[in-house]
Amino acid sequence: AAAPSLLSINNIEVIYDEVILVLRGLSLEVPKGQIVALLGSNGAGKSTTLKAASGLLPSEQGEVTSGSISFAGEDITKMDAPERVKRGLSLCMEGRHVFPHLTVSDNLLAGGYTKAKEAGETLDFVYEFFPKLADMRARTAGFLSGGEQQMLAIGRALMSQPTLLMLDEPSLGLAPLLVEEIFATIAKLNADTGLTVLVIEQNARTALSVAHHGYIMEQGRIMLEDEADALADNPDVKEFYLGVG
Ligand code: ATP
Repeated sequence: AAAPSLLSINNIEVIYDEVILVLRGLSLEVPKGQIVALLGSNGAGKSTTLKAASGLLPSEQGEVTSGSISFAGEDITKMDAPERVKRGLSLCMEGRHVFPHLTVSDNLLAGGYTKAKEAGETLDFVYEFFPKLADMRARTAGFLSGGEQQMLAIGRALMSQPTLLMLDEPSLGLAPLLVEEIFATIAKLNADTGLTVLVIEQNARTALSVAHHGYIMEQGRIMLEDEADALADNPDVKEFYLGVG
């Protein structure tokens, strides 16, 4: 039997600035305990999907105009972003969104404000998981390398103790070895803690190598979905998203 969905997006439509229709009846399921990859070309609406799930569209004049989103069995379609974070939903934007003038530890603590009482314990967990961040805890985040900033961004997202971690292109701008390292980290987090993950990624091959399930979106809709292995073997996917070979 299929694992129950933690996040369920049901036929949503999203409009920016009251006229720009970007999601056109998008549905996807993120089963509990799985890693799900959301793939597709630039402008397909992948980031918009994560923003809709996080409740961040109003700050960009975007709106879910139809359909619904539920998380852990609760309808969150109209819920504001902080309430969703409290319920265990966390979005990690790409690495350069760390606070450049704050230290590594202050960046992490900023991510833990919704669970302030347990912040000390969570911080210990993050340092255990990312020993490099522990070594650099007193450093100013703006001086970290791109890969280190991405690790910090993931660590900060973990500080809210999410049950679902959503990642928007965690490998953007990183060298191939670091891309592998980031995805190995995501796989380890999932395997060690059972954390459920929804990840947007341009490196389709790398994402599918760690994901359980994948979705491919084009122009605001899901075009194809399958088990990650089957998607990676699909001839159309190979041609359009994985390059030949
Ligand atoms: P990319 O990989 O390039 O980020 P994406 O699949 O994540 O692409 P989105 O960022 O969700 O796509 O953008 C989908 C469409 O919505 C694009 O045509 C984009 O121009 C438009 N769009 C995104 N954000 C806004 C906004 N705040 N206001 C108006 N239009 C927007």
